[in-house]
Amino acid sequence: MKYISTRGKAPALNFEDVLLTGLASDGGLYVPETLPTFSAAEIGAMAAMDYPSLAQKIITPFVDGCIPDSDLAAIIADTYAEFRHSAVAPLVQLDHNQWVLELFHGPTLAFKDFALQLLGRLLDYVLERRQQKVVIMGATSGDTGSAAIEGCKRCSNIDIFILHPHQRVSEVQRRQMTTVVGDNIHNLAIEGNFDDCQAMVKASFANRAFLPEDRGLVAVNSINWARIMAQIVYYFYAAVALGAPARKTAFSVPTGNFGDIFAGYLAHNMGLPVERLVIATNRNDVLHRVLTTSSMRRQPLQHTLSPSMDITVSSNFERLLFDLYDRDGAAIADLLARFDEGEIAFSETAMARARSLFSSACVDDEQTCAQIAATWENCEYLLDPHSAIGVRAAMTAGIAADIPVVTLATAHPAKFPDAVKGAGLNEEVGLPLHLRDLFERPERCSVLPNDLAAVQSFMASNIRA
Ligand SMILES: *Cc1c(COP(=O)(O)O)cnc(C)c1O
Repeated sequence: MKYISTRGKAPALNFEDVLLTGLASDGGLYVPETLPTFSAAEIGAMAAMDYPSLAQKIITPFVDGCIPDSDLAAIIADTYAEFRHSAVAPLVQLDHNQWVLELFHGPTLAFKDFALQLLGRLLDYVLERRQQKVVIMGATSGDTGSAAIEGCKRCSNIDIFILHPHQRVSEVQRRQMTTVVGDNIHNLAIEGNFDDCQAMVKASFANRAFLPEDRGLVAVNSINWARIMAQIVYYFYAAVALGAPARKTAFSVPTGNFGDIFAGYLAHNMGLPVERLVIATNRNDVLHRVLTTSSMRRQPLQHTLSPSMDITVSSNFERLLFDLYDRDGAAIADLLARFDEGEIAFSETAMARARSLFSSACVDDEQTCAQIAATWENCEYLLDPHSAIGVRAAMTAGIAADIPVVTLATAHPAKFPDAVKGAGLNEEVGLPLHLRDLFERPERCSVLPNDLAAVQSFMASNIRA
């Protein structure tokens, strides 16, 4: 299987190369040239598969022989064995046709473990085979960083540098990053906001002169194709548990960078009967405005109770646009150039296509807390603020009563105690057992100024020989 860029000018890559790449050389994102599809009979048979077997079934065509099947199976088994629920992604019913898919049983308590625990192991496997070393650089508003560090901590061929905005991530999130000890792990607290961190990562990918010549730079944010690929699996897992292919399923997805929900769109295109995909955003509602106004415009960042969705630009939306514009790379390059100038107006044909599958809702902090309280009242189930936004959007999306609506529960509530308090709940939100001593563990972190040269020189002097 070949991977092609959304802007049409970068060389096509195979799976192994796409794994080791960030942005394509033309500034685009890589997508599969064609998608594997599954027949109704094949989807029916998935109901008998446990999570690792299903992951193997879905992922194998994307890897396309780059990793022998038996090695891939071992990597997948090892990845999901670390999850602390034997179903890996269990469903919980909240109301008549409302469900949550709990995606927070991985080591760092957010859905990002599904992709990043796998990505770390895939990278290590491929680098070992190539006898190659790389540097990972990533920006995080909290959850990506800890999942990436956890996924790469045993990788001898990777030095990992994670930038987070100093004093702008929750204490649990920070400690999950800074208490993982290893001489290949570096946490940089930047005296700036998340966008500043992101800009430094982007600039470093654009000009890599600060790195030793033999080191590639690898991205772990959701522009990395392998992350999207891993996330397709749980859409199938949930839908078949609720009766697919005979019955359609709707999904509500707390959305920031459009990575997680884009995986749902791919599942739909691979044959899964999906009734609707609901884009659930906080007040940083760029995607909700795209769907309702057909235009995309940047607005200032707002800090909310759901910090993992506090972003102003959703980079993976470009992958959907590529399909909405008939995979015309030149048209996408042209559109995004206009965004750099301020605003993109989308064609009505493209937007009509988008609206045939996607709906959207914007949920503010007050409604988020109200939903956490209401769900607790209704069934004594405690939602984290991101998942609460998804549930609120699911309930207001107007989905027919005979269609199960699955909200992706993207994080464990213990990660975000402020929102739980904001909901007026005095429940002690305990951390799961393996993290009970998190607040006693020593932290390691370097505070650096909001300055690219300072960050790059720190990195250059900390990369191992
Ligand atoms: C990253 C994250 C999201 C947003 O996911 P995207 O793929 O960026 O849309 C939602 N909730 C939580 C808890 C997250 O960590």
